[in-house]
Amino acid sequence: MINLFSDTQTKPSDAMRKAMAAAEVGDEQRGEDPTVNLLCERVAELLGKEAAIFLPSGTMCNEIALLVHCRPGDEILCDKTSHILNYEAGGPAALAGAVMTPIDGDRGVYSADQLKAYIRPEHRYGPRTRVVEIENTANMGGGRIWPIDTLNAVTKLAKAKGLIVHLDGARLLNAVVASRIPASEYTASCDSAWIDFSKGLGAPVGAALAGSKAFIEETWRWKQRLGGAMRQAGIIAAAALYGLDHNIPLLAKDNENAAMFAGIIADSPKFIVDPTSVDTNIVIFDLADGMDAQALSRKLEAEAGILIGAIGPSTLRAVTHLDVNEASVRSAAEHLLRIV
Ligand SMILES: *Cc1c(COP(=O)(O)O)cnc(C)c1O
Repeated sequence: MINLFSDTQTKPSDAMRKAMAAAEVGDEQRGEDPTVNLLCERVAELLGKEAAIFLPSGTMCNEIALLVHCRPGDEILCDKTSHILNYEAGGPAALAGAVMTPIDGDRGVYSADQLKAYIRPEHRYGPRTRVVEIENTANMGGGRIWPIDTLNAVTKLAKAKGLIVHLDGARLLNAVVASRIPASEYTASCDSAWIDFSKGLGAPVGAALAGSKAFIEETWRWKQRLGGAMRQAGIIAAAALYGLDHNIPLLAKDNENAAMFAGIIADSPKFIVDPTSVDTNIVIFDLADGMDAQALSRKLEAEAGILIGAIGPSTLRAVTHLDVNEASVRSAAEHLLRIV
């Protein structure tokens, strides 16, 4: 089995499990778990913020951040492909009562000029534009990295208009490793930002959200209210710390393997993909001649034990990660050529 379905499919390594077993623990929701506290300090430092909070998932980071930032009827501007809009079961609308307006970006990235057209003037009829949301890397943009100048121009405009900036950094560290731009530079002009531990870092569960002390204080009330406050969570925080200590450099290999995969399949006229557009560990590719992506995905699994998800009628998404090495990724690409 070669699993390129998602980087969420990694399983904790033996060494990570050892670190989990050895973790010092306490009552997390009383602030007494030393491993969770250490993790929060590390993430705050990594993202250049005053404080951080450990949460069960990236989705909860987004939802809680938006709950703190928005009042019912407020508007969040986000790219049309964003996770908050498409994959969180309508959470920002259901929980924060926010209107999400999709921006027509380019593979998950929009410009300051585009953003400008969406920011509403203050008047009593429209929803109040409140939050600008950025996803870096852009998952459904094929793992695209936000160019730092574009990001800075967007956040500068947002600040000038008195808006709050929230960064979904589920795969921010893939961008950091590929661009060599520190995480804190990407997050400097963002009011809130988070990273996921259960993707490329290989932990079984968890994410951490960072921001100002006052912001994190507010997030704690929502964590409690939604049932995200935990007890001896040091067991899982230890996995996240292990990921931060050992697995960040390995993301470079994931990024390289994705580019190699795209390069191999791009040689066939059956696939439409631009290998130079693969910034990180996600390859989104189209099938020529209206070939059926679902059928191909099923055939790949049945005939070669390769998992690649169909995300559209003729579109598939392959994601590289810690648990697939270079040889496996190459083999998956070659099987794909053969089967198609
Ligand atoms: C996976 C993902 C999330 C959600 O993270 P979970 O930890 O799976 O809840 C949010 N945003 C993006 C861009 C993601 O890829």
